[in-house]
Amino acid sequence: MVVTRFAPSPTGRLHVGNIRTALHNWLWARRHGGRFVLRLDDTDRERSDEAFVHAIRADLGWLGLAPDEEHRQSARFAAYEAALERLAAAGRAYPAYETAQELELKRKVQLGRGLPPVYDRAALQLTPEERSRLEADGRRPHWRFRLDHDAPIVWDDLVRGRQQLDPALLSDPVIRRADGSWLYMLPSAVDDIDMGVTHVVRGEDHVTNTGLQLQMFAALGAPAPAFAHEALLTGSEGKLSKRLGSTGVEEMRAEGIEPEAIVAKLARLGTSLPVEPFADRAPLIESFDFATFGRAPARFDMEELAALNARIVHQLPFDRVAARLPDGMTAADWDAIRPNLRNVAEAADWWDILHGHVERPAEPEDRAFLAEAAGAAEEIAWDADAWRALTAAIKARTGRSGKALFLPLRRALTGRDSGPEMAALLPLIGRDEALRRLRAAAGAPS
Ligand code: GLU
Repeated sequence: MVVTRFAPSPTGRLHVGNIRTALHNWLWARRHGGRFVLRLDDTDRERSDEAFVHAIRADLGWLGLAPDEEHRQSARFAAYEAALERLAAAGRAYPAYETAQELELKRKVQLGRGLPPVYDRAALQLTPEERSRLEADGRRPHWRFRLDHDAPIVWDDLVRGRQQLDPALLSDPVIRRADGSWLYMLPSAVDDIDMGVTHVVRGEDHVTNTGLQLQMFAALGAPAPAFAHEALLTGSEGKLSKRLGSTGVEEMRAEGIEPEAIVAKLARLGTSLPVEPFADRAPLIESFDFATFGRAPARFDMEELAALNARIVHQLPFDRVAARLPDGMTAADWDAIRPNLRNVAEAADWWDILHGHVERPAEPEDRAFLAEAAGAAEEIAWDADAWRALTAAIKARTGRSGKALFLPLRRALTGRDSGPEMAALLPLIGRDEALRRLRAAAGAPS
């Protein structure tokens, strides 16, 4: 059974980058009939905020990425405690007493000598007496995980291929602070074990963490999950922009972006598969494959997303948007105006045009023409073919064709220079209102 997890810290809203991570975890779980877990990394009580927990749930729900299961690290401190005890008993975790300033000084000295700033494990040399003395002085230890330096850390990453790290070049990571609070590293590994996570899908900024966590899985006697580290996203300016970091569901939603557009875009961005306007997820689930992911950072562009969104809106069936349309709008109305929308909210503008008050006096040179058009409109049959009949009749009466024929009609009937197919709009406007608009534009009393 495939189990994936999305593990945001509730210290802010989701942004494009972590929405993508959530989506890929969701897609992989769905593709394999597995489970998608939301794990809230809220060990940092100061920075975690319940409002963000709600926002994360709401955003995932709106995106259609609701988890099958939810866990919170703040409810699992006992499990981390037990894991630390086991590691300590096995000699894989040890207390250290250096202050932040002392550690900083060590780092500076190492760097000054041209050495990598790796923790020197001085705490491992402390005698029991020295430790007691430090504790008697009121020093509380923080805890480090002791890395095994004997063999390189190796794994086959689903995106990056074979990875190798030399543990001797890494500091033994601090896993618990002196005040008893937990850092991310150990709780995450413990959770992945307890929740049966089979695939860890996250950004490549976590590659080094993976090396450390692989040793934690081994030290805790658990098999390691598979890992997929994805290249990060950049903004349209090329860099990991501030704007990208703040672009979230709220902003995209305000711009009329559909969840399906975000899903279609982020499922394929950075892969060798084309981004296509899928209004349904099945093909995205089916084709989702880490082997298609590139190693280079992918560029996320809001304008491209807006264009993809329009192409998806054009496909959405009435029943998927009905709740967001103006009261009274029918499937026929929606089908007529849908091909012209950039987002669903614009349907309201066209609704007003169809059924509200439109009055646009014609250019002087078009007035007589529109009076003829009104005359023709009285004679034709008002069926689904009304537009063809009307334009043919006007053409016969006036001799106009092309733009000189169509533009004044569109302006008089919709008040706009462009829009959905007139053939679809005209029957919806209806005979009486169309006649009224043509006469008004011609300047005739209606
Ligand atoms: N809370 C971590 C983060 O947001 C989770 C990383 C992970 O997926 O393990 O970066």
